[in-house]
Amino acid sequence: MSDCIFCKIAKKEIPAEFLYEDELVLAFKDVKPIAPVHVLIIPKRHIESIVNLRKADELLVGRMVMAAKDLAEKLQISKKGYKLLFRVGEQGGQEVPHVHLHLLGGAKLSENIRPI
Ligand code: AMP
Ligand code: ZN
Repeated sequence: MSDCIFCKIAKKEIPAEFLYEDELVLAFKDVKPIAPVHVLIIPKRHIESIVNLRKADELLVGRMVMAAKDLAEKLQISKKGYKLLFRVGEQGGQEVPHVHLHLLGGAKLSENIRPI
């Protein structure tokens, strides 16, 4: 997807603070962090949303979660805990239409999930 901001980050056309990369996924710091630690883990391939995942993407999604787990250890937030968040579609609050897993931690975070 040529006009997708996360595809551009994956192709290194837009700068980001990269924390991890392998052949399937990429992790970088969120540009507007809402927690002391706020990292996004994305597939390198463009997938619009969790809704668009196929059975063949199981390995990819597993890799995203494992990358988040390993980064949490590296960033020393594993012991106290953290949140992993996928927003899906409009009511899920997803703003960037390229799958991304939020790794949020470094402080006790509120739940605050309720209908607007
Ligand atoms: P979501 O609301 O789940 O779609 O989250 C999108 C996230 O992407 C937000 O937390 C944004 O701050 C973040 N974001 C948008 N553009 C960039 C960028 N160029 N570099 C890093 N993070 C970004
Ligand atoms: Zn994309």
